[in-house]
This record gives sequence, structure tokens and C-alpha cells, in this order.
Amino acid sequence: MNEIKGGCLCGGVRYESAQAPVMSAVCHCSHCQKQSGSAFSTNVVVPAAGFSVAAKTLATYDDVGDSGLAVKRHFCSNCGSPVYSEVQAHPGVVALKAGTLDDPSWVQPNVHIWRCSAQPWVPLADGAVCFERNPDA
Ligand SMILES: [Zn+2]
Ligand SMILES: [Zn+2]
Repeated sequence: MNEIKGGCLCGGVRYESAQAPVMSAVCHCSHCQKQSGSAFSTNVVVPAAGFSVAAKTLATYDDVGDSGLAVKRHFCSNCGSPVYSEVQAHPGVVALKAGTLDDPSWVQPNVHIWRCSAQPWVPLADGAVCFERNPDA
């Protein structure tokens, strides 16, 4: 398995996962666009059980998902990097922002969610599994 370690731009927040990822997914929802300042966020989903964070500067924005349930968006209060999210609708896992991995080269997102709000210029890989909104919806 690839080593799953990463952190924010300034290094104030560092994390690692002792377990292999469950999946990698691109989220095109409007909240991820806002938070990332980009067209989408790329998430590596790992089990919460093996996930640990060492953080001097971790802050949390309490967001609410389309489900009406809480989405805790954790970021670095020093450099502003979005680092990971906990989604109440999907307990037991943590969604890491793939760009915060020390080595993101192995990430191969195979699922796209919230395609209904994807930017029109973003290409989706052939054979990618797409959901217009959340997979559960
Ligand atoms: Zn930072
Ligand atoms: Zn999203």
C-alpha cells in the first residue's frame, strides 16, 4: 500500500492513515468549489479508525451537506489549506483532500459526484462512475 501521509501548506497540520483508502472521488459540489477555490475537490476516503492528526493550527468550518447533516470541513488556520472533512452522512470514514498528500501521484479517482454542478470545461475520464448528486440520493 502507498503510504498515506500529508499536511497543509505550512506544515502546521500533519496527518497519517494506517489503513488503505476505501475510494478516491472527485466532488464537483458548489461547497467544494468554494472551499477549494477551484473547480472541484479530489478526496481520498480512508477509515476513521486508522486516521490520526497532529495539529497546532487546525480549525473547523461547520458546514451542512445537502442531506441536512453536518459536514465538518477541517482546514489550517495559518495557511488556509483545506485538509480533510468528516461527513455525518458517511460515518466511519474521513475524506482527505488529495492535494494535501505528500505523495499524491498514485491517486486515481474513479468516482465523480455532484456532476450536476461540474464546471463545463472539466473533462471526466472514460469509464468514470458519475453521480449527478450524492450517491445515496
Ligand atoms: Zn497550514
Ligand atoms: Zn463536495
